[in-house]
Amino acid sequence: MSTTPRVLVIEDSLMLIRPLCRMVAKQDYTPVPVTTLAEVKAALAENPSFMAAVADYCLPDAINGEVLPVLLEAGIPTVVLTSHNDMTTREKVLAMPVVDYIPKESPSAFEYVMKLLRRIRLNPATKVLVVDDSPAVRTYLRQQLARHLYQVLEAEHAEQAMAVLRENKDIRLILTDHDMPGMDGVRMTSTIRRFMDHTKLAIIGISGSQDPTMTARFIKAGADDYLQKPFNFEEFFCRVTRNIEFVENLQALKDSANKDPLSGLSNRRHFFEKVQQLNSGYSVAMLDIDHFKRINDNYGHDIGDAVIVHTARLMEAQFPYDLVARFGGEEFVVLSRTTDAAAWLRRLDQLRESLAHLVVDTPRGELNFTVSIGLAGSETPDIVQLLKQADERLYYAKQRGRNQVCQKRPGESGDWDVSPLT
Ligand code: GH3
Ligand code: MG
Ligand code: MG
Repeated sequence: MSTTPRVLVIEDSLMLIRPLCRMVAKQDYTPVPVTTLAEVKAALAENPSFMAAVADYCLPDAINGEVLPVLLEAGIPTVVLTSHNDMTTREKVLAMPVVDYIPKESPSAFEYVMKLLRRIRLNPATKVLVVDDSPAVRTYLRQQLARHLYQVLEAEHAEQAMAVLRENKDIRLILTDHDMPGMDGVRMTSTIRRFMDHTKLAIIGISGSQDPTMTARFIKAGADDYLQKPFNFEEFFCRVTRNIEFVENLQALKDSANKDPLSGLSNRRHFFEKVQQLNSGYSVAMLDIDHFKRINDNYGHDIGDAVIVHTARLMEAQFPYDLVARFGGEEFVVLSRTTDAAAWLRRLDQLRESLAHLVVDTPRGELNFTVSIGLAGSETPDIVQLLKQADERLYYAKQRGRNQVCQKRPGESGDWDVSPLT
């Protein structure tokens, strides 16, 4: 059985339904094609779990959009495609909580549908904060954003907005009014920009003010865009989507430069960049998976990859406030601000032990693995020297039989008086 989310594709024209289904499949969805309202009902009765529907407004057995209430009642986010482009139909459709309304005659109609399908998958995890002192405006914006399935948060004034933002650092877009009690929208925008730049968050100013300088004031304060009230529905979503995608694209670009694609951890380059920003007073750990080559040889490269990912997840979970990086292959580094040698050794030995107890399910049965770890800290502020020391101790841990943490090799002097664990 397919695991990709299903999309109901409702279209009575055979000339259109084939390319539509092909495009839906390209978005990593499973298209379920149907041509009449009766077939829609049958498909829903059989299995109502659809991530979305792309629905033709006029069907042979439902010429006046009767299919829409059926889909909405089943709780399916619905994109309406139609050749009726008159104002009456448009208003009738948009009065229902559909995702959007797209006239078929436009050459880019299908591309727009695909873009919406992509958003329907991403938006439930995309947070938008609405800042306005009017409950009616907040409710209106929330309802509009809910069409596109965004996660909507609200604030009545600037101070509350900043509190919400501190609690939800993953907010992608703020829609803000200008005139509010206390701090106004423009000042709030410039305040937020001091700690969150355009790569993390987009801000759109919204105001009914007739002041002709309002757009410029918002943009100069750090807003990305401005909407004059009253605005039309299509323009609203164009700007919301464009600004959110801009932030996402910048984020993806940043991630591709800084992150290792397999584990999602920082890569070596990003590790050294981060270290440059630190003053002295930190400890490092170098970790290497034991006999990793055997895992690859016995279970296959994919299972080897899974072991790397499991290791990364556990390291992140046990060192949430430290910098965890994948240096390459099956080698990882943790950097912490601690200078407490005994505590550092204890924490890394805990990690070693939890990894040794981890069970990885494979087609060839359960798999266990172990790691060896070398530690260094405080001896020198030079990170390269510190990593070299940790690496030598890691090598020693391997020589002594693996599955252990080494903080000091025999004969080494220094403040670190804890011997390798056995
Ligand atoms: P030791 O206990 O001494 O560390 O032995 P080992 O087998 O773990 O170390 P060795 O350095 O001999 O082998 C590491 C292997 O890891 C070799 C390489 O093919 C494999 N490897 C490197 N990167 C990846 C990766 O991203 N995925 C997988 N599956 N294997 C990788
Ligand atoms: Mg190894
Ligand atoms: Mg290695």
